[in-house]
Amino acid sequence: MRARHRSRTGKPNRERNQVAGIYIHIPYCKTRCTYCDFYTLTNESQIDAFVEALCKEARLRQKELNEAVQTIYFGGGTPSRLHKDHFAQILDTLLSHYIIDPDAEITVEANPDDLSDDYIRMLAQLPVNRLSVGIQSFDDDELKFLSRRHTARQAIDAVKMCQQQGFRNISIDLMYGLPGQTLDIWKKNLDQAIALDIQHISAYHLIYEEKTRMHSLLKAGKIKPVDEEISTAMFALLIDRLTAQGFIHYEISAFGKEGYFSRHNTAYWQNKKYLGLGPAAHSFDGDNRSWNGTSLNRYLKSMESGSPERETEQLKQHEKYNEFILTGLRTIWGINLTELKERFGETLFQFCMENAKKFLDQGLLTKEDQTMKLTRQGIFISDGIMSDLIWV
Ligand code: SF4
Repeated sequence: MRARHRSRTGKPNRERNQVAGIYIHIPYCKTRCTYCDFYTLTNESQIDAFVEALCKEARLRQKELNEAVQTIYFGGGTPSRLHKDHFAQILDTLLSHYIIDPDAEITVEANPDDLSDDYIRMLAQLPVNRLSVGIQSFDDDELKFLSRRHTARQAIDAVKMCQQQGFRNISIDLMYGLPGQTLDIWKKNLDQAIALDIQHISAYHLIYEEKTRMHSLLKAGKIKPVDEEISTAMFALLIDRLTAQGFIHYEISAFGKEGYFSRHNTAYWQNKKYLGLGPAAHSFDGDNRSWNGTSLNRYLKSMESGSPERETEQLKQHEKYNEFILTGLRTIWGINLTELKERFGETLFQFCMENAKKFLDQGLLTKEDQTMKLTRQGIFISDGIMSDLIWV
């Protein structure tokens, strides 16, 4: 395997369309968090068979990706449940079956409680050059409420150990808008994140996903969602504090230092091709979206028979237009109106501009040259703006 190297600029590169990413879904978690609705399992007894099957899927689907792979993302689930041999097996398979750019961004999501000194040293010996650490909060009561397995101290120590082992591109996840969370607690979380001297922060408002324990608690009246006003103030505080510290707010939930934007996620937002491997993983080839089934047992069986269980949907023109709007407006780069007209034609272009007019007049959208994007005020009601611009 190649030596580890630093990620270069995360700026989008609109000229190089012939690139692609690979997403690998690791469907294991030590325990389940109360708010999470991802497909994951806590029984790891079949983890070796899963890695075998994943490598088989990578070999079987090799022809789907002829482009240079610029990003590899181990997500989940909890990829830090994998052992050294698992990573080696997966990366060797990818390196021998795909054209991997020598400067590829290779990210591993990890949970602080898995990041022992030995584990980080093992990751540092792999060609992994970016870590995304699922911290969520630096407040022990909040961590308990979310059923996270780590403490604030463990999270801080884990990031410091990663830095000591040479990782220079570290992202952390934070969560806000928790029941009972005050602006002061959120500010302390942000200050602690800033003090860690990391390169990237993704911050998400708590969502009460159906079928989660958090949703049941809400329905039973045992918890109360945070007030809308406090939510908005938390988002404003997030933007103000991080941008004052040199983070660029380049996507609604993502903040990166210059040169450290997530190249993998940026490629999603620019509708680039990606291949998703593993149960429940999604793929996109420019025209079609496909997704693997959400059952490990069926996944293992389908890989044994050599025919992946996958559903595919061909995107219609208006669906591609909707994705162009939804993903473009989420980002600092907005949507290019020339590209919009060229790719989707006069009718959809006019539809977009007619619906955008009121937001432009209200200062919620801005148009400069051929680029239209959300203003700071617009970011706060982005869902409403986007839903008015999409074609239903
Ligand atoms: S939030 Fe992360 S660690 Fe928790 S159950 Fe979901 S995938 Fe697993």
